Amino acid sequence: KTRSIVSKSESKAYEEAKRRLQMETEDRRRVVPELRKKSRREYLKMRGVNKLDDLEAEVEDEKYLFGDMKLTEKEKKTVEYKQTVLKLAKEHKAAKEIERVNRYFLPEEDMKPQEKYVEDATEKGPNYEQRRWEEEHLHAAMMKFGARDASEKSKQSSKKYEVIMDDEIEFVQALKLPGTGKNVDKDTKHKTEDSSLRLDEMSDIERKRHMIKETKRSLPIYPFKKDLINAIREHQVLIIEGETGSGKTTQIPQYLHEAGFNKDGKKVGCTQPRRVAAMSVAARVAEEMGWKLGNQVGYSIRFEDCTSERTIIKYMTDGMLLREFLGEPDLASYSVLIVDEAHERTLHTDILFGLVKDIARFRPDLKLLISSATLDAQKFSEFFDDAPIFRIPGRRFPVDIYYTKATYIWFMLQAPEADYLDAAVVSVLQIHVTQPPGDILVFLTGQEEIETANEMLLERTRKLGGKIKELIILPIYSTLPSDMQAKIFEPTPPGARKASNTLSRVLQVVLATNIAETSLTIDGIVYVIDPGFSKQKSYNARTGMESLVVTPISKASANQRAGRAGRVSAGKCFRLYTAWAYKNELEDNTVPEIQRTNLGNVVLLLKSLGINDLLNFDFMDPPPHETLVLALEQLYALGALNHMGELTKLGRRMAEFPCEPMMSKMILASEKYKCSQEIITIAAMLSVNNAIFYRPKDKLVHADTARQNFFCPSGDHLTLLNVYNHWAETDFSTQWCYENFVQHRSMKRARDVRDQLEGLLERVEIPLTSNEGDTISIRKAITAGYFYHTARLSKSGQYKTVKHQQTVLIHPNSSLFEQHPRWLVYYELVFTTKEFMRQTIEIENQWLLEVAPHYYRAKE
Ligand code: ADP
Ligand code: MG
Repeated sequence: KTRSIVSKSESKAYEEAKRRLQMETEDRRRVVPELRKKSRREYLKMRGVNKLDDLEAEVEDEKYLFGDMKLTEKEKKTVEYKQTVLKLAKEHKAAKEIERVNRYFLPEEDMKPQEKYVEDATEKGPNYEQRRWEEEHLHAAMMKFGARDASEKSKQSSKKYEVIMDDEIEFVQALKLPGTGKNVDKDTKHKTEDSSLRLDEMSDIERKRHMIKETKRSLPIYPFKKDLINAIREHQVLIIEGETGSGKTTQIPQYLHEAGFNKDGKKVGCTQPRRVAAMSVAARVAEEMGWKLGNQVGYSIRFEDCTSERTIIKYMTDGMLLREFLGEPDLASYSVLIVDEAHERTLHTDILFGLVKDIARFRPDLKLLISSATLDAQKFSEFFDDAPIFRIPGRRFPVDIYYTKATYIWFMLQAPEADYLDAAVVSVLQIHVTQPPGDILVFLTGQEEIETANEMLLERTRKLGGKIKELIILPIYSTLPSDMQAKIFEPTPPGARKASNTLSRVLQVVLATNIAETSLTIDGIVYVIDPGFSKQKSYNARTGMESLVVTPISKASANQRAGRAGRVSAGKCFRLYTAWAYKNELEDNTVPEIQRTNLGNVVLLLKSLGINDLLNFDFMDPPPHETLVLALEQLYALGALNHMGELTKLGRRMAEFPCEPMMSKMILASEKYKCSQEIITIAAMLSVNNAIFYRPKDKLVHADTARQNFFCPSGDHLTLLNVYNHWAETDFSTQWCYENFVQHRSMKRARDVRDQLEGLLERVEIPLTSNEGDTISIRKAITAGYFYHTARLSKSGQYKTVKHQQTVLIHPNSSLFEQHPRWLVYYELVFTTKEFMRQTIEIENQWLLEVAPHYYRAKE
């Protein structure tokens, strides 16, 4: 009886419009470099991870995939065969490991490139000092930790180290990032010693003020204050380039305030690509100015507005400024706009470039500052009609760069994901034990990884007990609550402070995501550990599938990361990859987000700003044509655009929500299905995604049981709803969260988001209605938004996406993991070893015809 459903080609008129669009662009089409879409596994394989691990991962995957499903005889045989091979291979590996004679043996060509590499190491051209340094060091290139200076002390420490560590990583030093900070080093040391004398005689408040003043004065930007303000007065658009930590973000708005750019209550606005940065920097400026955060200085991020009528210095995410265009198309309330961290080239920043360039033309009184950390300044200048570049000379101490001698440490891999974490953890301890004091910064890819590394470190240090000095571990990632983030900037524990130089204090290790690359400057970092990966959005314009993928970073990123080690003194950067990999495998620059993301949201926003001609929009780097067309197609299918590509009434309402189009559509569809209460709860819970449940290591079983108690047979969205409703019934109790292994702060955030969505519902005049018992209505509303994300169980027992027949798997955390519904809709895909669907609900295929008649039709 079930009719099968196929996706339907677009209506004729739309087809026609699309064809026209395609023709128009034929000649201005740019060939966008094919994104490297190598999977992580392929990547690791390429880097020499042995077959064994691949096989192991494959067998693991198959366990997931087949579970207790019935296999054919042949399939069974293959699986068994693989398992046998794996077993043998493991035994073989174990035997080999016992030998362990030459475990760092490397093919010769891996050693050579250092020389080659050194030749073109300095982007800024060869310089004498560095050459000399290189000559000196090339001979001593291979070094082990602690082996460099032969003093008694270090001998002792390396001896001790042998006793306490049973694994180690060998690094090779390959080059040095030259610094300019040598002289300043002495100066500042002198100064701080000097002032610390006087500091003793001051009161707490005085001391704090004094310190702030000192710090402000010591920033590289300080001597250029006057010149900078003059340049801003003189030019409407100015590109500002300066090393991370030079004071661009925190100081410039204050300078502008002093210089009178806030007169008539006009605002100085400063955008940040990341929420954490916006919050933390605003807090810092409030402190420096002696203001209360949220008054004169405030921040605005999605679902959180910490500003007031009186706010004159406003930090915000780039996405928030984009939304402000909706209410104030000429941004009349601003006298200066700073597009900060421009080098990050986030999607929103790129769109802002086009928009602010445009309004600067008809608002001659508006000042525009584009500020960036790295070498893109020329490109920005060209885009902004050859705007002048103001360079703040960097002040960085030299940084030694070390590479691993081997590609990671494949011999102790358990799974492809675990390798660099292990390597990073071992490196932290190695540094801790063998190197002079100084804080360590480790770059990891996300919250989960950071938490794992945190646990691994705790476990290891606990084992080592009193044998090593205390190690304070500080995680930082964007969803970390702000009070926890603030810890990063807290001064060192007082006991350790007395020591004469700032380095001999309790050691801290900061586990951070990319955010510490340029957005936040953490003082005191001397060592950087760079595994060479970050999480990036990757988008397949053909299939419309977007996923977060752990991807190798670019050379530009790697160098930024290394630079973090040279802020306070000469530092060291340990790269967990080979010099060869750096040179041959890393791209020069990160591909701008606009070229690897779904544009639905942005297209909707631009359309609501009345910008219809997207193909002629002033993009710094235009998005791939296919991506733009696909975004238009999706918005059409969602009903946000008509066949002429114009915004519909529905589209206009969708643009009111600061959410992805699919989510906005889901929310709007709740009107028809009379379940807006439930849907906004679900939307709120989805947006704090993955941070709801926690599983403490010692209580895994309890936590899993607690979680399963919330499971709803029809899917994860309803499970989330269930959790929220139970929590609400307890009057939002913290205790309840604790007992149920639910993260209280995530729930609080969900509640905030939900409140905001409730306000927005009012704005689009949708009444709050509840339809709690009726999961069908709720699921239909969800499907009305997410029908693009439909997968069905194929005959082979695998899920395939409906439109493109891609193989996808239900995430093991899902309440549907052990059921195999024929049809389901998922919220998002995450790619680890396979494409996993996260947050799924079961649907009936008939619903697709009802909710998305533009997109699906019944097969005759
Ligand atoms: P830039 O934008 O040029 O990278 P910033 O203005 O962000 O530089 O930083 C200048 C200085 O202010 C740095 O030394 C940094 O450590 C310090 N700083 C920034 N934010 C905070 C904060 N929240 N708490 C303490 N110090 C901070
Ligand atoms: Mg900055």
